[in-house]
Amino acid sequence: MNLTLIIPCYNEEENIKPFYEKCLATFFKETFNVNYIFINDGSKDNTLNEIKKLILNEKKSNIYCLNFSRNFGKEAAMFAGMQKSQKLNTQYTVIIDADLQQDPIYIVKMYEFIHSNPDYDCVTCYQEKRKEGKILSFFKNTFYKIINKISEVPFYQNASDFRLINQKMLNALLQMTEYYRFSKGIFSWVGFNTYYMPYEVNKRIHGQSSWSILSLFRYAINGIIGFSTIPLKLATFTGTISFLASIIYGIIIIIQKLTVGIDIAGYPTIVCLILFIGGIQMILLGIIGEYLGKTYIETKKRPIYLIKDDLSFQSIGETNDEKNN
Ligand code: UDP
Ligand code: MG
Repeated sequence: MNLTLIIPCYNEEENIKPFYEKCLATFFKETFNVNYIFINDGSKDNTLNEIKKLILNEKKSNIYCLNFSRNFGKEAAMFAGMQKSQKLNTQYTVIIDADLQQDPIYIVKMYEFIHSNPDYDCVTCYQEKRKEGKILSFFKNTFYKIINKISEVPFYQNASDFRLINQKMLNALLQMTEYYRFSKGIFSWVGFNTYYMPYEVNKRIHGQSSWSILSLFRYAINGIIGFSTIPLKLATFTGTISFLASIIYGIIIIIQKLTVGIDIAGYPTIVCLILFIGGIQMILLGIIGEYLGKTYIETKKRPIYLIKDDLSFQSIGETNDEKNN
């Protein structure tokens, strides 16, 4: 029985070794074999060297490193890891962060669950209690409310990317080759049976989170655009409403003029109306632009990521041999 861990790494130089040691300490009693796929997602620090050092020190062929040509983002790193895991042909694949916020002990728990419940294809960890500020959690709750109303697939609130998947689901996920990737949507779009397991997130000890409010907002917009076309229909909806309102208002004005002879309201009303209608039109054009821009990029069919080096103990050993000769 074997298991492959996909570990996206962006500026995690201080976490690579402690992460690996924590995994070793957690898995030493287990009966499964573990492969490690570290993805160096264009880190600006020493992450790549730390991974190489680990591979050379351990002298094990079960540690791999995909070194991206630049930073492509965690979504791309997860996709690359899943492709590599498919080639390794392991029974289960796990996605886990490198920063030790997700304790590998949950991998054992997820594995035990799926092993004794073979009807399930995936176990996903979710945070029962989120340790974050009120404002951020308000925005996250609102996001989930909106997306669950307008998307064709359900989104499980607080579900993380920390999950264990079987081969069948892995193969399905790899058929989702869109450029703009929103994993929470992709995991739910492919279906399969998922069990949600509560877990506690640890504090980050080294390095810092790469999320800012702005990047979270952009990610949320990506999610909505990727999994719903309802915003596009807003144009038809508001257009129809304002068209009907204008006809009704026109009829009222004509009747008032003919019966009581009231003068038509003046300049301020017109300015307000122009600004109002103009504003709505611009917002709707913006929404259409978002979809169009994303469609444009998708049609280029650019690769989701590019690999500069595909490293393992064997390949690093060969390069060292060449240098020595
Ligand atoms: N990560 C990545 N590429 C990026 C940003 C992050 O591979 O562009 C990795 C990062 O190294 C970590 C995981 O994704 O292993 C989660 O990132 P982070 O800790 O910043 O997110 P948070 O835990 O704050 O949600
Ligand atoms: Mg983190």
